[in-house]
Amino acid sequence: MKLYALGGYNEVGKNMCAIEVGKDVVIIDMGVHMDKIVGMDEEERNMPTKDLIKMGALPNDVLLKGKNVVAIVLTHGHLDHIAAIPRLAEKYNCPIIGTPYTLEILKNILADEKKPQLVKNLYLLSAGEKATVAHNLDVEFIHMTHSIPDAVMIALHTKDGIVVHTGDYKLDNNPTIGNAPDYKRLKKLGKLGVKLLLSECVRVQDSARTEPEYVAKVMVEDALDRAYADHSAVAITTFASHIARIRSIIKANRGRREIIMIGRSLESYTAAAQRIKLIDLEGIKIYGRRKSIGYALKNIKTKPENYLIISTGNQGEPNAVLSRIARKEFEFTFDKEDQVIFSSEVIPNPVNVANRYVLERDLKEQGVRLMEGVHTSGHARREDHRDLIRMLTPKNIIPHHGETERLASYAALAMEEGYILGDTVKILYNGAIIDIN
Ligand SMILES: [Zn+2]
Repeated sequence: MKLYALGGYNEVGKNMCAIEVGKDVVIIDMGVHMDKIVGMDEEERNMPTKDLIKMGALPNDVLLKGKNVVAIVLTHGHLDHIAAIPRLAEKYNCPIIGTPYTLEILKNILADEKKPQLVKNLYLLSAGEKATVAHNLDVEFIHMTHSIPDAVMIALHTKDGIVVHTGDYKLDNNPTIGNAPDYKRLKKLGKLGVKLLLSECVRVQDSARTEPEYVAKVMVEDALDRAYADHSAVAITTFASHIARIRSIIKANRGRREIIMIGRSLESYTAAAQRIKLIDLEGIKIYGRRKSIGYALKNIKTKPENYLIISTGNQGEPNAVLSRIARKEFEFTFDKEDQVIFSSEVIPNPVNVANRYVLERDLKEQGVRLMEGVHTSGHARREDHRDLIRMLTPKNIIPHHGETERLASYAALAMEEGYILGDTVKILYNGAIIDIN
């Protein structure tokens, strides 16, 4: 068995790896590097694939040239896990396997990128199900919790043993959409024997365990109750794909204000969720296009205390609505004492940190009150990772989805659990190929 570390092995972004058993190869995830994509103009986004790879926006999959790729398997619908598919997947001409919400998002991306021919390759697999992708090679989806619906861990059953890929995850026993993780199955896999665990490590440097999504729901309720008492304009921003959180915001409003959702990604992610009945948006107005956003905001200006604005731009993305309001590009501007609630965390990379700094500075200059951190993370913290290692007791562990410092922190945790650095726990880099024994 061989592992190809293709993306996400020295960075938070562009996740992609491949497992080779005999002649067959399974690719897991195919993401873009968000901080290289955010801020690109139309022309740059249309650059040839080889140039996007060169600048690090897409994973370099040249190592798989000529290989017999039998499936591309997706852990969840975040762009750093699936958005490279329009550029890279076509040449493999194999099934692209994902859960319902992941595939709904992917369909939107394929339409935007004008790759409708790939839709025929999409293969729906739900959590708890298995698919045979080649002789002696089965893909299994295990229900998991994260900051997007329908996230799964992947178990690859091969003739050389079981590989578990965590995708992005938190161990949430009180989620607000769906059930807690499928611990029973994870423990069973542990008993069957896991040869290799490929684990994300985005928040491994944070101590303790991650709070459940239910806590964020209560925090959102409290934030809105207190903001409404001040009769000011209120805007709340979160990840457009965080459907559980958007549902909590709508519920917390309790019909008190008219909800206006603005931003293109909010429009597209909620539409995808609506198609598979994950969210009810009755009575909520959604504006995705530049012109209609300007029009909607103009209306709000007359009586801002009657509205709740849910907007994109929680990372301070310069092109998102919130940053554009802060730069006074619309007729609607914030007044002193208006409130902006960040129901999000900064995805840890330098571009986001810098963008958020600019956004917050602009808002503060206008006297806006900032309510940050009304949020619980979608990523496991150190003690959650320890719990998972103990459930699966894998023979080998390789962390990914982090720069070297984060990978090393995960490796140190594995060493506390009895693994040996360079032997049973390894730190890889993009482009590495290693044998798993
Ligand atoms: Zn994710």
